[in-house]
Amino acid sequence: MTATGSPDLPPEGFRTPTAPVVVPEYVQPPDRSSLPLVFTAPRRGKPPTHWADLDPAARRTAVEQAGHRAYRARQLSAHYFEGLRDDSETWTDLPAGVRAELASAFMPRLLKPVRELTCDDGDTVKSLWQLHDGALVESVLMRYPDRVTMCVSSQAGCGMACPFCATGQGGLQRNMSTAEIVEQVVDGARKLAQGTLADAEAGRTPRVNNVVFMGMGEPLANYKAVVGALRQLTTPNPDGLGMSARGITVSTVGLVPRITQLATEGMPVTLALSLHAPDDELRDELVPVNTRWNVDEVVDAAWEYARTTKRRVSIEYILIRDVNDQPRRAEQLAKVLRRRGTWGWVHVNLIPLNPTPGSRWTASRRRDEDEFVRVLQSRGVPVTVRDTRGREIDGACGQLAAGQADITEPDVTTPAGVRAHA
Ligand code: SAH
Repeated sequence: MTATGSPDLPPEGFRTPTAPVVVPEYVQPPDRSSLPLVFTAPRRGKPPTHWADLDPAARRTAVEQAGHRAYRARQLSAHYFEGLRDDSETWTDLPAGVRAELASAFMPRLLKPVRELTCDDGDTVKSLWQLHDGALVESVLMRYPDRVTMCVSSQAGCGMACPFCATGQGGLQRNMSTAEIVEQVVDGARKLAQGTLADAEAGRTPRVNNVVFMGMGEPLANYKAVVGALRQLTTPNPDGLGMSARGITVSTVGLVPRITQLATEGMPVTLALSLHAPDDELRDELVPVNTRWNVDEVVDAAWEYARTTKRRVSIEYILIRDVNDQPRRAEQLAKVLRRRGTWGWVHVNLIPLNPTPGSRWTASRRRDEDEFVRVLQSRGVPVTVRDTRGREIDGACGQLAAGQADITEPDVTTPAGVRAHA
């Protein structure tokens, strides 16, 4: 397998001018996906700078440079992050004559809605967005009785080439900016605040409690923008969205140096590691980046993350029929995890495989799934099976492809119970 970009992932922005870039040869496992691993996103025209790209000091400077008093920055932040008001006419604490000018200077529209699909009686909403350069991404909002979870994309496409994932099969178009990531959450929060979703419990204004970086892309391959987004999400109102880091989950294929770095950021978000196999032979096939950082290395990094942040790590494990769902693999998984300690540092999240176009794999049989759970439990490993949302609108894990077909065929037949809003 060939790799592009730097697999050693130096800190972003860090370049040693004299050091040659060494791109090690990756050995293509026999009879596997021929997609390359891509660590560095192609450079494209940058999206316009947005309020959600800036920290509070930079916002004040930007406002002053535009000829306004610095305190206007706090007012704008309150409208954006706290009030979720995107119509500048409602910014009545600002002079009428400057509202539109400030809105267009600092809050350019980054996500153009292309299509929305809903299911689960309106409780699951998948949004397809077009970015300024035409790239397409998707996000999914899921309402549960007691909480709302927003699943966001961090890259247009993905370079990690996992063969069971529709996003991975499409390759990487580009990294998303901090504000492009934040805007997905703000849009979801706004929809809830405005009550545009079917709201069974009238009179209640639900809010986004959880954000999961499980949409398109490998978040840790777009480290700087993702950490920037985490800061915007967790900074208290009015300068940020004021979410708890505990409600945020970053899911990764296992880029070890970045896991280690994330532990030092002072934002104890939950780490989810997409393991999918307890042995290198199978994981090399299912998660090609395993050829760079193997099972032992990623599990060590996850353990270290739990130790540093005091946050329990989630091990994601898709169940694929007759591929990785045998009892001996459950035993091996328990061994791999327990070897690092039994003090509750980890939790296994089993995900029934969601179908993707052209894949030869299917979800495990129910009895194999039950047996897998039983083996883990009998060895003291906490385990849950994920309740997958949005499968019928291709909005479930691994189904986000943001395919062109989505927008060029507005009349696609949707399964019963699914409403398409072009
Ligand atoms: N790149 C990151 C985040 C995106 S995917 C990662 O891989 O972790 C979010 C989760 O969905 C991952 O655990 C991923 O392995 C899983 N997933 C991908 N394709 C899937 C599929 N077809 N069915 C079920 N889960 C899938």
